[in-house]
Amino acid sequence: MAAAKGPRAANGAESFDYLIVGAGSAGCVLANRLSADANTRVGLIEAGPSDKRLLVRIPAAVAAAIGDPAIGWGYKSVPQRHLNNRRIPLPRGRVLGGCSSINGMAYFRGHPRDFDEWAEAGASGWSYEDVLPYFRRAENNETWPESRYHGSGGPMNVLDIRQPNPLVARFLEATSSLGFARCEDFNGPDPEGFGCRQATIRRGRRESMVTAYVDPIAHRQNLAIYTESLVTEIVIDDCGQAQFAGRYGGGGDSALQWRADHGIDRGTGGQAAGGGLGLPGSVGAKREVALPAEAVFG
Ligand SMILES: Cc1cc2nc3c(=O)[nH]c(=O)nc-3n(C[C@H](O)[C@H](O)[C@H](O)COP(=O)(O)OP(=O)(O)OC[C@H]3O[C@@H](n4cnc5c(N)ncnc54)[C@H](O)[C@@H]3O)c2cc1C
Repeated sequence: MAAAKGPRAANGAESFDYLIVGAGSAGCVLANRLSADANTRVGLIEAGPSDKRLLVRIPAAVAAAIGDPAIGWGYKSVPQRHLNNRRIPLPRGRVLGGCSSINGMAYFRGHPRDFDEWAEAGASGWSYEDVLPYFRRAENNETWPESRYHGSGGPMNVLDIRQPNPLVARFLEATSSLGFARCEDFNGPDPEGFGCRQATIRRGRRESMVTAYVDPIAHRQNLAIYTESLVTEIVIDDCGQAQFAGRYGGGGDSALQWRADHGIDRGTGGQAAGGGLGLPGSVGAKREVALPAEAVFG
């Protein structure tokens, strides 16, 4: 366990106000925001190990990080008939930071028009103008410090790649010579065209959601972080209290228990099998609730 600082409940389970299952991108942000209130006890539970390893930290080692079985779930597709029955790897991070500890560090927010189409389709509060303040708040952009589209002073560092491969310049010359548009800023007003992408890197090291959102606040006494702890079962009683069971380490020899008095949050990643817990037959939402961006990030 990285840090088990939570108070013990009478039944021996660690007791919290909020338990976050999965310390991936979403889980790390939630841990930061929820534990900002010193009176709120927050537990962050991650199946994988610590992210403090070279392959995760060095941006150029990204391909090795993606392929490292010690920090991935090892998912593969079923045999693909049209690919000579090969099974294609589907990488997902199983490590503190989740996929943000193995991803390509490309900083793309999504196309503004996609957000607007969500809003038009009924997801009120999710238009591009609605979400833009939260993108700016998340960011410390070294190239565009403060502008309509970018922010500074936020937790996540974003920069231009200082020494791109020389072939990039030749490639961009070629696209321009063919009449394709150049894009100077893929997170600006018009993200279409060819250009150099920005990256989530800080001082030469990967900026994951752990380094951005958790490391700076890991000293908080009201936040406990569990690594190598797989949640296997959640039982929710009629009062909304939740008992969590899990196991520590790869061998499954050591049982763990937690209790959440106020809420459960699933940060277990969209593609994890088993409805989010990475396990068969896990918890699903009784009711889907659509919240505006302000309610989620505000
Ligand atoms: C190889 C790769 C490259 C990518 N490149 C980019 C990129 O360049 N730019 C970009 O913007 N995005 C990229 N992405 C996508 C981006 O990283 C993900 O969309 C994002 O990190 C997902 O965040 P999440 O919180 O939904 O899930 P995750 O980050 O996957 O977090 C889920 C966490 O829950 C844990 N978990 C699951 N089940 C349990 C359980 N039962 N008990 C305890 N813990 C559990 C997992 O181990 C994991 O840590 C990439 C993704 C991958 C895989």
